[in-house]
Amino acid sequence: MTSITKQQLDVHHELLKDLGKVDRPSAVCTSGDMPLTIPGLKVDGLGVLSLPLGKTQARKLIEQCRHELEKRTAQAPQKPTDYRRADKLSCNCDDCSALSAFLANPDRKQGRFPLAKKRRQHLHQIIDGNLCDLTHATERCGSPFTLVCTKTTASYEAACKIHKRDLQNLSRIIALENKTS
Ligand SMILES: [Zn+2]
Repeated sequence: MTSITKQQLDVHHELLKDLGKVDRPSAVCTSGDMPLTIPGLKVDGLGVLSLPLGKTQARKLIEQCRHELEKRTAQAPQKPTDYRRADKLSCNCDDCSALSAFLANPDRKQGRFPLAKKRRQHLHQIIDGNLCDLTHATERCGSPFTLVCTKTTASYEAACKIHKRDLQNLSRIIALENKTS
């Protein structure tokens, strides 16, 4: 439910990594924000692509893009109904375990972590690095200061934006198919 954004970023990261291996990056052909064909790219069921695309190959590629978008848009993102948020973190030290338990708790919107500077900084990094649905601020009174974390619906909002973009791309593809059929 809340891990969509991170997954999207992982896919994005993998894609960029693989694109980095293409030895003719200037030949990448795109349509809007959707990379369409890359010469030398192997597509399941279509074999190795080369430009210009044959008519059948282009039709099949468009069809494949449509199928993919249909799968992705089949279900709209679900708005969180409680305060449970994605709780998998890249560290399992005691402080991160406490943070993770707070994230998993469906009833708590705000978590307070009185910690020395180094440990607060560590939690900052973990929150940012793991794209947690949290804002964090340091309450500068008492000793030690307190890191105050408040849950957000950032992942859901990001997923909604992606969903909307996917739906727009899907209607563009359907229009393209209608035009070329
Ligand atoms: Zn940690």
